[in-house]
Amino acid sequence: MAISRRSFLQHAAIGTSTLLAARAQAQRGPIAPPDQQSADAKLPEVVSRKLGVAIVGLGKLALEEVLPAFGECKYAQPVALVSGHPDKAKRVAAAYKIPAEAIYDYAGYEKLANNAKVDAVYIILPNSMHAEYTVRALKVGKHVLCEKPMATSVAEAEQMISAASANKRTLMIAYRLQYEPTHLRAIEICRKQELGALKIIRATNCQDTKAPNIRLSKALGGGPLQDVGVYCINGARYLTGEMPIEVTAIEHRSSEPRFAEVPESVAFTMRFPSGVISHASCSLGSAESRHLEVLAREGAFEIENAFTYRGLKMRVRRAGKPNGRPNEIVEPKIEERNHFADELDAFAQAILSNKPIRTPGADGLADLRVIAAIEQAARTGRAVKLG
Ligand code: NAD
Repeated sequence: MAISRRSFLQHAAIGTSTLLAARAQAQRGPIAPPDQQSADAKLPEVVSRKLGVAIVGLGKLALEEVLPAFGECKYAQPVALVSGHPDKAKRVAAAYKIPAEAIYDYAGYEKLANNAKVDAVYIILPNSMHAEYTVRALKVGKHVLCEKPMATSVAEAEQMISAASANKRTLMIAYRLQYEPTHLRAIEICRKQELGALKIIRATNCQDTKAPNIRLSKALGGGPLQDVGVYCINGARYLTGEMPIEVTAIEHRSSEPRFAEVPESVAFTMRFPSGVISHASCSLGSAESRHLEVLAREGAFEIENAFTYRGLKMRVRRAGKPNGRPNEIVEPKIEERNHFADELDAFAQAILSNKPIRTPGADGLADLRVIAAIEQAARTGRAVKLG
């Protein structure tokens, strides 16, 4: 076979460099001795101390999501339990290697003060108990992570915030979606106006809740707005970065016995200072639907399973010119993470490294102000302005 001069020279050059590399490797040996190895090896972060958390309330969320999530946490660990069920608490403690002495009942809650391993408590009780157990923990010097909704009234939320400030402790509200990658990407799209100015936000968070359930009890702070609607309110607030200035609402009071104390469904609109209008539906009596759609000037995005624990999926549509109809649809690849773990780590890091928190008591209070306005609008049939 004929070889061109150019090809011959190329082969010769490759041959020489391969030979030189092999000779250098032979002189070095198969691996460099320790004193000749690079000193700039990358060290993973050494976590010197994890935040010790007492779980208060061992219901469905605590057992099925929160306690397992600690397995994926870097900065937080469960070190104590507070429960009204001693047998259940013993089984849970054994499963998570929590000593039996670190199990407390509600009456003995303040004894947490004597357990130096407990830095913070995570309140996962019925909504009506959030304020009391938050304030009691703050008074004995513990930091607090409190489930949503923060409380059952604006007044309770204000007391919780005052107690945190008076006792110089951190109070964070467990708005897990503000730690979830798809929602973080949604916030980025909105903040950077990647699809132009925001116009409309449409949210649906509905489920079928069977009795008995804390969500169906007025005394325990239940109701569709409090349980699922709050995600639509919080979501519209973190996507716009604004507080609504006016709301309208209607509710349906069902004759079904399970809805004797709380409305079955509420639909509401929120008007934001920038002109964004958000409309939302929440229900405890319908088939499940968790959808979020955001329309902007030059495109839109939606999130399927927007308020669930896993399986969130974003679809972005860009409007084509000149008719404004969507002509490009992309489904960005977004890493699925255990956002309960990320939320717990964010809480722990804020306390251990004295960093600001993303979802403080003020965030929970703002939502309660909106809920109060929506309830008033539904009751009176009139638009309610928020100061
Ligand atoms: P749940 O009914 O399963 O658990 C409530 C726990 O509180 C139980 O362990 C129960 O024994 C205890 N409890 C103590 N005193 C009680 C009383 N007087 N009446 C009833 N229960 C009492 O409820 P859950 O679904 O685990 O919800 C608990 C909290 O977590 C609520 O505030 C809820 O809004 C919140 N939550 C948040 C999410 C989320 O995604 N962040 C999901 C579900 C629930």
